[in-house]
Formats: sequence, C-alpha cells, structure tokens
Amino acid sequence: MQTKTFIEQIISQVLAGHRLTAEEALQLAAAEGADLLYLFAGATQLREHYFGNEVSLCSIINAKSGRCPENCSFCAQSAHHQSAAPVYPLVNAATIAEQAKQAELIGSECFGIITSGTGISSGAELDELCAAVRQIVAQGTVDPSCSLGIIDLATAKALKEAGVVTYHHNLETAASFFPSICTTHRYEEDVETVKNAKQAGLKVCCGGIFGMGESVAQRIELALLLRELAVDSIPINFLDPVPGTALQDADFLSPMECLRIIALYRYILPDRKIAICGGRERNLRELQSWIFAAGASGMMTGDYLTKKGRNPDADRQLLVDLQLSVAQCKH
Ligand code: SF4
Repeated sequence: MQTKTFIEQIISQVLAGHRLTAEEALQLAAAEGADLLYLFAGATQLREHYFGNEVSLCSIINAKSGRCPENCSFCAQSAHHQSAAPVYPLVNAATIAEQAKQAELIGSECFGIITSGTGISSGAELDELCAAVRQIVAQGTVDPSCSLGIIDLATAKALKEAGVVTYHHNLETAASFFPSICTTHRYEEDVETVKNAKQAGLKVCCGGIFGMGESVAQRIELALLLRELAVDSIPINFLDPVPGTALQDADFLSPMECLRIIALYRYILPDRKIAICGGRERNLRELQSWIFAAGASGMMTGDYLTKKGRNPDADRQLLVDLQLSVAQCKH
C-alpha cells in the first residue's frame, strides 16, 4: 500500500476511535519526502479535530536549582555534572507568585513550579510550595502546576488540596532506554509518581526528551506507555546539549526529525495536549513554526529551566501569523 493511502486510512481509523499499534506507528515513522508532508497534514487534521484552532501556552519558574543527587545524563542540574547551571535553594512563595503574574501576562494557561532534586515530601519546602500555589490561585487565572520529582500519594494529595491543577513529571524516555540515561533511581518510581498524581485527582503532564540516542521504536514505546497511563498532556523536549553534562557532545536532531516525532505522538495520542518545550529553538531553528502543522497543540514560552527562551512576543506573533488562538485557563 502507498504511504499516502496508508496515512489516510489511519487518520479515518483514529478519528473513528482506533488507537495505533506499535507496528502501525513504526510504519508511519518511515514516511519520507512528500509522504512526510502528508503525515504532517494528517497530524494537523487530528489536532484540529480535537482542539479546533486553540493552542495552549505554558511557562515555568526554576524554583530550586542545581545540586541534584540524580545522574540524569542530559541534566545541567545534576551534582554528577560540572555545568554552569545556577545553584540556589527554594525561592519563597511571594517570588513564585510574582512570576506567575508574568506568565499570565504573556498568555500562559499553565504556570509550572519546578524544583531540582529526587523529590519533595512533607516538610518546610512542601509547605512553602503549597503557600505559593494558594497565592497563585487567589491572585489570577493561570493554572498552577508543580514538578517536584518523585512524590508519594500523601504529597500529591497535599498539592491537590492547595490548588495545584497539574502535576508534571517526565518519564524522559522509554523504559528500555532509561538505564542509559539515569542509574540513580528506577523507572518504576517515575511511573509510580504519575499514578500517585492521578490517584490524587491531579491532571498529569508527562513526556520526555528526544535526541538522547533512543531509537524510533523506543520513542514509540514511550508514547504507548503514556497512552496506557492516560496522561493529560505530553511535553516534548529536544536535547539541547549542555556543556559539562554526560550528553554534552550529542548531536542535535534535524528539524525534520523533530517534526516527525511530534507527528508520531499526535497519531498515537490524538486527543492529548502535546506541548513543545525545551530545545525548540536550537533543534527546529527556522522550522519552529511547523510544530503546529506537525500536530503540536501547545508550546512553552519564556525562559526554560537553565536556559533563556526566545522573546514571548515572537512566539505570540508566530501564533498570530498561523491564525491560531491562545487557549484561556478554565479555572
Ligand atoms: S532528577 Fe531532575 S533535576 Fe535531578 S538530575 Fe534528573 S532531571 Fe535533573
């Protein structure tokens, strides 16, 4: 069967409720040339079916940076690496809440509070974070999200009670590739965190980083697990190698490869939010505006964890030019 015909058949089946098998996803991932553009056109069709003309923006604050005991090979904040990433303890609730106002001003629907480290449980840090969340809920309309590493059910419940809407916790990569990326904790602990957040009634934002040496089959393996875990949104990051980390010499993905990954995720997770986050500028370069054509339904705007992002005005202009509208937070 011709690739174009196969793509058309898959789109009708997905719209009718079929969910892709690993074999079908692998076949789609092989599209090249004009077929790759058909793949993007189909991804746009799926995005529009589930999200109409709306895309979501999110922003983050690095609320506690550096000295993490984990050894994630991509991460500038790991104490196992010698990077120039800033090191500071948890910032106070007022600073976090102030930053949330800025996120709202640049059109973000979701504001993520991110802390370095293995995880956070009950104690002074969790109390301060909950205070920040309560302040954010009281002052504005941006949805507070937390990304605090591995958490247990009691912590997830405390966050939910404080007003957190979404818990963010990336699985980073496929289970079969994870031992090449991190050896200081088990993949199952990350999966358990996702389950704890869901059980506490939080939405879950969970995705990974691409371009770390994983195979196409492993990208699909991760997508299928995210579908099984029923996560609500998927952040897609592309490795932007940081000097001093174990992956400092890794190559960038090509822009077309990045777009292929986005499209693949849209076909596998057709009705989930897919947001393009770290590494967008340096991996996609001139093709950044294609992310929505490839099926993304959102992007991070503003600065990243340890790197500057581009000017949020440029991101907003991009959306205006593409005639896409920005989703508003619903709370
Ligand atoms: S757990 Fe998070 S902060 Fe720590 S090294 Fe891994 S990615 Fe970096």
